[in-house]
Amino acid sequence: TISMAVIDRMGHIAVGTSTNGATFKIPGRVGDGPIVGSSAYANEEVGACCATGDGDIMMRFLPCYQVVESMRLGMNPELAAKDAIGRIARKFPDFMGGIVAVNKKGEHAGACHGWTFQYSVRSPGMKDVQVFTVLP
Ligand code: ASP
Repeated sequence: TISMAVIDRMGHIAVGTSTNGATFKIPGRVGDGPIVGSSAYANEEVGACCATGDGDIMMRFLPCYQVVESMRLGMNPELAAKDAIGRIARKFPDFMGGIVAVNKKGEHAGACHGWTFQYSVRSPGMKDVQVFTVLP
């Protein structure tokens, strides 16, 4: 999956996601990519979230919607991301997934379960993309 969150200079926030699907998926499977709030979600008052991983499990929790609404209630991106991953892991300890949360100020964090996860960031003050590694 490639998921991306963008904040423009006017403060508009957007997300997009694509997926190559799960390994050994059944024909006709609809993954989490098209499910709003599962692998991507944005709200301009709050921020955005992107996800990758075991979509068949993650889509049951709408983790990106969860993250954005947790940030709306005051959680920082790191806590919101960890909380959303934890909600899934408590029910499905073997799932693999990662999420990235960013608030409207551009503060960001990732959380993951079952694998080591990386995401990259580029913002106006940076000369190049920076890659962040998130440990489970
Ligand atoms: N989430 C995707 C899916 O389940 C797979 C992925 O993230 O690579 O279709």
